[in-house]
Amino acid sequence: MAMAGRKILEAAPVSDQTNAFWHTVKNIFAQPIHDKVVYKNDTDRLLMFPSGGSIRCKTAYDADTMRGDYADVLILDEYSMMKPSAWDEVGAPMLLDNDGDAVFIFTPKRRNHAHSLYVNAVGDDTGRWQAWHFASYENPYLSKAALAEIVRDMTQDAYKQEILAEFLSNEGAVFRNIGACMNASLFVQPAEHLGHDIVIGCDWGKYFDYSVFSVGCATCHREIDRDRSNILDYHVQRQRLETLNLKWRPKIILAESNAMGEPIIETLVRDGLPVRGFATTSSSKPPLIENFMLVLEREEWQFQADIIWTAELEAYERTVSASTSRSSYSAPPGVHDDTVIARALMLRAASTFFGSDTLPVVDDNEGIEDVRKSSWR
Ligand SMILES: [Zn+2]
Repeated sequence: MAMAGRKILEAAPVSDQTNAFWHTVKNIFAQPIHDKVVYKNDTDRLLMFPSGGSIRCKTAYDADTMRGDYADVLILDEYSMMKPSAWDEVGAPMLLDNDGDAVFIFTPKRRNHAHSLYVNAVGDDTGRWQAWHFASYENPYLSKAALAEIVRDMTQDAYKQEILAEFLSNEGAVFRNIGACMNASLFVQPAEHLGHDIVIGCDWGKYFDYSVFSVGCATCHREIDRDRSNILDYHVQRQRLETLNLKWRPKIILAESNAMGEPIIETLVRDGLPVRGFATTSSSKPPLIENFMLVLEREEWQFQADIIWTAELEAYERTVSASTSRSSYSAPPGVHDDTVIARALMLRAASTFFGSDTLPVVDDNEGIEDVRKSSWR
């Protein structure tokens, strides 16, 4: 590729990795380097080819250490050990104007941002992404004897992650029993739920994430429709929700009211949609998530299976504050939580407005606002 004029940048978070890469490419091009056909700069770890192409490697692990470089082929080596900002803030924009390619290489590190990227690639049907998975045993350059030696002293978890390249559960994983609750039909017609209590949960897209709607039937305890898009235009987001509203005629739409949520909700209310706002705060969020946890543990609802939506559930984490010992919930850095929040809001709407004894009782309406009142204030 470099010989054909492309500019290749390899970045890895530790110098051992970049050194190994640098030594390998220097060896490959030893002859043309010796003949001065390829120019080599050891300080910058740069090879320049007569075509104008180049290969360079640098140690980088976040946006700040990635900045100031140029590439049309970017290799992020050990991406699971980098900060997500290395790609989100610098890598992706770097490739935008030159239609570049990115290659991510990594050993899993539980379900962090690299897992999220992998899952999105596996679930991609646009042809933009491809994903591969290899265990160490498939590496022809690793000696079987050495591998057997290393494996002997490994814990079961380390073996699964480091050798089999499996994605282990996060330490603070919140949602259990997910697999048992993913059996709802994918193609549902409104006629099947005519006269039922339909609810929708909404998480609005912000910078770098998705707007997500989950439609549920509170009568059947089933998710019946979903929408996830990364179109940031609020006008388009609103239209997509209005389409779902026309199709399903929900009784309640519970939508996040934080930040940009409030003005969208006010517009929707004016348009006659049955929207209520939910203000996510440190006190309203834990019961919202715990309600969802219970629903899954008790298998009270069935949801539509989707690799990306399931991955966000699996990655979701609890952290307990050392000082207050209060739980807080969030996705790991670089992992989206939009589908988790949309579903949690959908369930919250169902249990608050159409709750029965079989559903976990929500003791108060914390977080739920009367938007109609507040918009006329
Ligand atoms: Zn129904």
